[in-house]
Amino acid sequence: MPAEPRFAFSVSATDGAARAGTIAMRRGEIRTPAFMPVGTAATVKAMKPADVRAAGSDIILGNTYHLMLRPGAERVARLGGLHAFMGWERPILTDSGGYQVMSLSELARVTEEGVAFKSHLDGSRHMISPERSMEIQRLLGSDIVMAFDQLVPTTSTREAQAAAMERSMRWARRSREAFDLGEDHASGAALFGIQQGALDQGLRKASAEALTEIGFDGYAVGGLAVGEGQEAMFGCLDFAPGQLPADRPRYLMGVGKPDDIVGAVERGIDMFDCVLPTRSGRTGQAFTRSGPINIRNARFGEDGGPLDPACACPVCSTWSRAYLHHLVRSGEILGAMLMTEHNIWFYQDLMADLRAAISERRLAAFAAGFRASYGARRDPEGLKI
Ligand SMILES: [Zn+2]
Repeated sequence: MPAEPRFAFSVSATDGAARAGTIAMRRGEIRTPAFMPVGTAATVKAMKPADVRAAGSDIILGNTYHLMLRPGAERVARLGGLHAFMGWERPILTDSGGYQVMSLSELARVTEEGVAFKSHLDGSRHMISPERSMEIQRLLGSDIVMAFDQLVPTTSTREAQAAAMERSMRWARRSREAFDLGEDHASGAALFGIQQGALDQGLRKASAEALTEIGFDGYAVGGLAVGEGQEAMFGCLDFAPGQLPADRPRYLMGVGKPDDIVGAVERGIDMFDCVLPTRSGRTGQAFTRSGPINIRNARFGEDGGPLDPACACPVCSTWSRAYLHHLVRSGEILGAMLMTEHNIWFYQDLMADLRAAISERRLAAFAAGFRASYGARRDPEGLKI
C-alpha cells in the first residue's frame, strides 16, 4: 500500500483561468474550488459535524486567535487535538491568528518579533509571533497551517503597505522554519504562504516571488475582502492569482458573498472561507438561487413553499418558509440551526455547480446564468449580503 499523501494537488480541468481539481491529504480529499465553513470556536455554529459533512464540506476552518484564548491550544492538545475535541475527522485549515489579533484584540502592538495584545475576552496579555502561531496550529493538530502575516488596511499608504508586505515575507520565512521543526506534525500537514501587497500589482508580484522562493504547499491571496469593495477586489484578482505558482492551490481568505466566489473562481481561485452562510443563518437571512431573502419579513408568514425551491437540502425538503419565519421570529434555537444548515448546503451546492461547469468548460455560461438569477434580486430588502 502506498503511503497516504501528505498533500497532493491535482488539476483535472481548466476553463479560462478557473481550475477544478482535488487536494489529497491524509484525513481526506478536498474537491476544488472548495468552500470551507468557518468553525471559529471549535464549532461550525449551530451545526453538528455530521451535518456539515452531509452538506458537502470536505474541510473546515478553525481560528487560531479564538482557540488560543479559549479553551487554549495546550488544553486542546491534551484532549487529543482539535479533530477529536470537536468530532470532525476530515481536514481542518487553521488561520494564523494575524487577522483576528488586529481586528478583535485590544492594544495590539506590532514589532519585528510579533504582535503583543490584550485578549478581547478578559484583558489578559498575549504574544503571537510566527513561531508561536506555528506552535499553536501544531498543538491544535491543523492539517493546513497558515503562515503568520501582518495586515494593514488597503487604504494605508503605499509605504506602509510595502513595509507590512516585506515584514510578512520575513515572517513567512520564520513560519516555514518553525513549521518544519514540528517533525511529526509537519510530516502530515501542509503550510500555506500568504501573498500581501494590498491592491498594488508591483507589491503583489514582489510578495509572490518572495513566497515562491521560500516554497509553500499552497498560497493565499491575503489582505482582500477588508472593505475595498468587489470591483477593487476583482481588479486585484485579475493579476494576483496569476503571480502565484500554477501547480499549487490558491486560497482567497475571508471570501465571500456567492457572487464574489463565482467571480474569484473565474479568476483562478481554488479555496474560500467565510462566516456569511453561518452568521446570516443566525440572523434570519437565507441564500437562494434567486438572491438572498430575510425570512423575518412578514410576507413569509403564510408562505408554504421551501426556502429555495431548487434546493435539495434536508431543510427545504421538510419545512416551509412560514415555519422558519415563525421559528426565527420566536427566537427558537431550531430556527438558527435550520437556516444555517440550508445556507451551508447552498454554498456547497454552488461549489459543486462551479466544479461541474469548469469540468465541462461552460463556466462563463454558468456564471452568467447565476448572476442573472441571483443578482436580479440582490439586496431586495436592504440585506448586506
Ligand atoms: Zn435548502
